[in-house]
Amino acid sequence: MEQLEKAIATIKEKMPELELRESEPMSEHCSFKLGGPVRAFAVPKDIWEFSKLEFILHMHSVAPLMIGKGTNMIIPDEGLEICVISTEKLNRIRLGEDGVTIHAEAGVSLASLAAFAKQNSLSGLEFASGIPGSVGGALLMNAGAYGGEMKDVTDSVVVYYLPEQALTEVAGKDCEFSYRHSAFENISCAILSAVFRLTPGVPEEIGAKMNEMNEKRRASQPLDMPSAGSAFKRPEGGYAAALIDEAGLKGFTVGGAMISTKHAGFAVNAGGASYDDVVELLDKVRRTVYEKSGITLTPEIRIYPKGMVLVDDWKQRRSGIMDQMAKSSQEKAEAQE
Ligand SMILES: Cc1cc2nc3c(=O)[nH]c(=O)nc-3n(C[C@H](O)[C@H](O)[C@H](O)COP(=O)(O)OP(=O)(O)OC[C@H]3O[C@@H](n4cnc5c(N)ncnc54)[C@H](O)[C@@H]3O)c2cc1C
Repeated sequence: MEQLEKAIATIKEKMPELELRESEPMSEHCSFKLGGPVRAFAVPKDIWEFSKLEFILHMHSVAPLMIGKGTNMIIPDEGLEICVISTEKLNRIRLGEDGVTIHAEAGVSLASLAAFAKQNSLSGLEFASGIPGSVGGALLMNAGAYGGEMKDVTDSVVVYYLPEQALTEVAGKDCEFSYRHSAFENISCAILSAVFRLTPGVPEEIGAKMNEMNEKRRASQPLDMPSAGSAFKRPEGGYAAALIDEAGLKGFTVGGAMISTKHAGFAVNAGGASYDDVVELLDKVRRTVYEKSGITLTPEIRIYPKGMVLVDDWKQRRSGIMDQMAKSSQEKAEAQE
């Protein structure tokens, strides 16, 4: 993709200090331990560096793919001609002056966020301590567990709206959080930071709650095998794991990909799984579950398609708007004649 190559050349020239890796294998960044190389993998050290990088991409009509901890996505083995921006260095965290809020950047892990809340005697994030994602990834899909979800604790989110290059603060109530969904899924944006509002608590009790949930997790989930967590969202009127189990699919295998024998809701990499293996496995599971129960499962894992390119089409859209404006003024002028 010519525009991407030009953008990369400009980034190298204008931002020599940026950590930019070329042909970076995504298997090293995704918890499923598969995925080929992406053309560029950038790791901005702060929000200022992020904006400078994003502006160069934007000027070349290239949109980035944001990545947090890579625990909810798979990338094709052939790789992709895209630029990935990792939030791993956007990891500042602090207590708000009011003592009951936490300000965290997008790359902070949920485990660190929950541990920080406990250290500061704040309750509300216990549910998040065992989810292996980042703040950004968790807000995007309203991650949750054991009755808690990001929705319950999010006061506000700072997002960078990519097509307009605009930084905006969105109140928690306006994030349109629902089960494993937020408004951020429908717009082209980068989540940069968030404020979480918690309630005072006793560290020992908070710790005990976290231990209890993590113990349950260890007992029921295949944490010793690479995966991307629950493969499917919970459908209305049932649980994905129960439906898969009832369809007799525990241990069902395609190549190196397998439905966990410990938890039917998890697809795992049992050894050398390819992207195609995972896609075929999930497809066969969906079909079988539908045949047996009439319920359609929707994947929770983000499966990026082969050959995907990410375009920031602001120039096209702007010229479309200009054309539209010119057309309507002409129509008005003609009507007046
Ligand atoms: C063993 C295991 C257990 C899990 N248990 C749970 C659980 O109990 N509950 C649960 O909800 N999930 C669970 N998950 C899934 C996963 O951890 C969560 O979905 C998590 O929120 C994903 O965060 P991430 O940083 O890894 O996102 P990534 O996988 O890096 O990204 C996921 C999506 O978010 C986008 N994204 C990431 N960061 C940003 C950003 N800053 N701005 C804009 N977009 C961004 C990416 O482009 C991608 O579309 C589990 C996963 C595993 C492997």
